[in-house]
Amino acid sequence: MAERRVQVTSRLGLHARAAANLVRVASQFQSSLNLQRLDGNAEADAKSILSILTLAASRGTDLKVVAHGVDEQEALDAVVGLFSRDFDETEKVDRERFSRPITELRCKGLSVSDGIVIGRVLRLQEGTHEVYRAHIADADLERERRRFRAAVRLSRRQLETIKDRAEKELGRGHAYIFDAHLLFLQDAKLTRDVEDYIVKEHSNAEWAAKVVGDRLLSIYTRINDEYLRERGSDIEDVIQRLLANLTGEGLKYPNLSQDAVIVSSDLLPSTIAELNLNHVKAIATDAGGWASHMAIIARGLGLTAVVGLRDFYERTRTGDQIIVDAHNGEVILHPAPETLEKYRFTVHETDLTVDPQAKLECGPVTTRDGIQISLRANVELPTEFQAVRDFGACGVGLFRSEFLLSRPGLMSSEDEQFEVYKALVEAAEEYGAIVRLFDVGGEFGPDLKERERNPALGLRAVRFNLRHKQIMRTQVRAILRAAAAGSLSLVIPMVADVGDVRLAKRVIEEEMERLASENVTFSPVKIGAMIEVPSAVLTAEKIASEVDFFELGTNDLVQYTLAVDRGNDKVSDWFRTLHPAVLYGISRTLEAGKGAQIPVIVCGEMASTPPYAVLLVGLGAVDLSMIPAMIPRVRSVLTQIDASNVREVALKCLDAATADEVEDLVREAFSDSRLSA
Ligand code: PEP
Ligand code: MG
Repeated sequence: MAERRVQVTSRLGLHARAAANLVRVASQFQSSLNLQRLDGNAEADAKSILSILTLAASRGTDLKVVAHGVDEQEALDAVVGLFSRDFDETEKVDRERFSRPITELRCKGLSVSDGIVIGRVLRLQEGTHEVYRAHIADADLERERRRFRAAVRLSRRQLETIKDRAEKELGRGHAYIFDAHLLFLQDAKLTRDVEDYIVKEHSNAEWAAKVVGDRLLSIYTRINDEYLRERGSDIEDVIQRLLANLTGEGLKYPNLSQDAVIVSSDLLPSTIAELNLNHVKAIATDAGGWASHMAIIARGLGLTAVVGLRDFYERTRTGDQIIVDAHNGEVILHPAPETLEKYRFTVHETDLTVDPQAKLECGPVTTRDGIQISLRANVELPTEFQAVRDFGACGVGLFRSEFLLSRPGLMSSEDEQFEVYKALVEAAEEYGAIVRLFDVGGEFGPDLKERERNPALGLRAVRFNLRHKQIMRTQVRAILRAAAAGSLSLVIPMVADVGDVRLAKRVIEEEMERLASENVTFSPVKIGAMIEVPSAVLTAEKIASEVDFFELGTNDLVQYTLAVDRGNDKVSDWFRTLHPAVLYGISRTLEAGKGAQIPVIVCGEMASTPPYAVLLVGLGAVDLSMIPAMIPRVRSVLTQIDASNVREVALKCLDAATADEVEDLVREAFSDSRLSA
């Protein structure tokens, strides 16, 4: 055995390129070569880049090099020589280029869910999704390992191509990072560990790669040196690539820390539904709008969210400190100490302003002139069921059931759905609950169906259900069975006209007949239609004669009436909930409901916004469904109004020419500070 002490003297420490050179030199010898930090904190195999990087050896770190084997003296000399030559880094590394400035960076966006959060960035790539664990039988383990090796080979070929291009276009100095990525893929610490995990745990390759990758990443997030810690994101990149190649698409989440702030260029609602939300505190995305499903869920779950941050995602690294300030529509990356201090104080103050009394009232609310208004809850996830009671809702006005389908390719079975709907009925108590048939498509597209050129106008909602009848039948059966446990209704999403309603009702009737013939306990349900596209508004009387109730989806009604993508921040200036054309559609639908004597429940985001809720009452709405946490505020506002007075304002609004005019009228009429809360 031969050993010697060395010190890291290069400016950047033992970073990725230096480590890659060290691996190259060490691998020429048969002897084992071990590096040990003299402070005793870590040791590493000099032939493994991943292992070396975990030393977190910044400039000035003292190490011991230990060689053991037939050529130990030569190996030791070669490695020590490399240390003394600062790892042969002939090309100047532009540290500035590869490390981000760590000065405070502020970005303005659009607040879609209130609050202020101080946390750590957790980057999620666009279009990524969770990796699931599958049990692999003994006979298939070898095949699983081969599948993993094939993904490694494919990743390697991709990286070689990327590296060649980077070399040509940017020069050798900038392509080096891909050398490091390629070495990660050759590193036994990664590949052997994954294969061992597959065999030992009878695990599928995706899960094994995720577990091993997460372990490596968690080592990196503990590294103090900012520059070296960033190398964790290189490992993240490689693991993502491997997983993408294994699954044939995008990816998977690193472990969530306690104060994770999800940063993403865009975030699918299904992605949020898959996350362990106990740890997520806030969301910051480059894209998104007020009425996107992501924003709706964030509000429902009480997660602070700022969207429309343009190129913010690219500026972040997992682990960076961040403040998400939805009061000011702003995110602050690498906050300066004085900023942090100010915000710590603000966060504390905000916590104190929650009024615990506000949650206690429940049931319908009565305006000053005696009009009773039901306040129901919109829920997306079973974790929100408790909120129905907590905020005093009159049951559940809208359960967006498609969140049960968020797992890619995984359809919830009839029994699984039955359990959820039964829990929903119980949570809704005597007021009952309304389950919406899967509104798949649009923002929920890619996992369940092929990408379409124009998903919002494509095979969405009722169209998807009618095209995939087996999925629809399974859901309908589960709903009918759960209805035996309490008051449960069903609503058909995004019908274009009464034709859609008739086709859907036929399927429901057939399933009732089948359940009866199978002697399965069930109960018939009330059937409603979502009115949220202009053709449904214009033919509302026809639809009303064939359903038990309407649900007015104002989010989509704005999107389709004004031809403005609800999730596209570039057109958010045109997304005007108070546009007179939208108000006209609402008023027309309310009238049609009244004419047919069926309830009309307004369940879009509009109902969750106090001044807009007042306007809805002015237009004649008496049934509102909203984010549970907003119920106390809307309740308190509605107790202060006179429905006949707000009716006058609503009529003026219907007569206005532009959204600006309506907004002015609303501001003027409902200027009480509590109304605009
Ligand atoms: C709506 O469109 O207003 C609605 C309630 O449904 P969703 O937001 O889920 O499309
Ligand atoms: Mg809708």
